[in-house]
Amino acid sequence: MEEAKKIPIAKPFLGENEALATHRPILSGWVTQGPEVAAFENEFSKEVGAAHACAVSNCTVAIYMALLSVGVKPGDEVITASHSFIATANAVRYTGAVPVFVDIDPATFNIDPALVERVITDRTSAILCVHQLGMPCDLAALVEIGKQHKIPVVEDAACATGSEIRWNGTWEKIGKPHGDIACFSFHPRKVITTGDGGMLTTNNPEYDQHFRLLRQHGMSVPDTARHASNTVINESYVLLGHNFRMTDIQAAVGREQLKRLPELVRERRILAERYNTLLRQIPEIMIPGQPEYARSNWQSYCVRLPRHIDQRRVMQYMLDEGISTRRGVMCAHREPAYPRESWSCGLVAGDGCDCAAFTCQRLHESEAAQDHGLVVPLFNGLTEADQERVVETLKAALAV
Ligand SMILES: *Cc1c(COP(=O)(O)O)cnc(C)c1O
Repeated sequence: MEEAKKIPIAKPFLGENEALATHRPILSGWVTQGPEVAAFENEFSKEVGAAHACAVSNCTVAIYMALLSVGVKPGDEVITASHSFIATANAVRYTGAVPVFVDIDPATFNIDPALVERVITDRTSAILCVHQLGMPCDLAALVEIGKQHKIPVVEDAACATGSEIRWNGTWEKIGKPHGDIACFSFHPRKVITTGDGGMLTTNNPEYDQHFRLLRQHGMSVPDTARHASNTVINESYVLLGHNFRMTDIQAAVGREQLKRLPELVRERRILAERYNTLLRQIPEIMIPGQPEYARSNWQSYCVRLPRHIDQRRVMQYMLDEGISTRRGVMCAHREPAYPRESWSCGLVAGDGCDCAAFTCQRLHESEAAQDHGLVVPLFNGLTEADQERVVETLKAALAV
């Protein structure tokens, strides 16, 4: 018997337009951060409705830069989710601050604002929320909490390019931004890609200025400006910066991807809707919830398996049938890189904290989402027949 075609978990959508666009910077002689990056920033800021956009090498450094810019320093606390890709919590630790993890709402995989308020202390210097898998979190509630306590809100919007949120009655793009700064990723697993890449959006010109210094060695006058000048300009280095630049080759690809974004998101929403319909035939499967204030870009589609079902066995069964899946999003606090003293759940020993290494009762929804979540294939170009095969195979896996 002929082996069935393999269905990957994700696949970037790239074509001739992206390939051709790289000719421009390559043949121009200017290949790192330059005119293509500037144009990509300009187009991205217009797309999401932000005053400023600053391109960087990836979203991990974007989050780190955002936290530095809002003033996070060693010894501070940053409230965030453990249930996220590890880069979220890592970015907090790079600043020397301690990540304080709060649990998630099992329907949306996003942090529960009611829990955030409970762990605020006088050392809390930022709330770092995540739009997990592209699903906007309850930003309005988080921004309100931030306002009341004078704590800045940074959005990890790594997965959320093209996602929308209802804000004061109108649908707006994630990244406008609604918090103080939003951070995006262009890794190939996200909806649009530049190979690797990131973007920070803000309405605060001082933050934007700070990003531009941080990403390029703290250099007072960028090389592009010196290159274009007819008079000699000597730069100075005004702060301890980094090399977090995006290249012009990447930005040229990003500009083409951005043109495709509306169509990519439109198709993904159709795919998600079809999964919803097909999966409703399997009553024991919980499909992802979309709150009334959110419109996901469906960067990923994660269902919940019944608790008595062995996640790994289902994944292996599907893999044997040629279908790639992934477990639910990881939890940072369960990883060896996160020894107990490196994070907090907001409680201290003697104050009801009974956390052990790699587990925490107050993060049980996060842990359950990791253990019982199942990410199924969703990418541009996935066919109706592929989706039916995914659902039929999942049904068969559960029946074994
Ligand atoms: C992908 C991802 C990141 C990291 O993005 P990079 O661009 O790969 O650094 C951070 N946070 C979340 C939630 C992500 O999914």
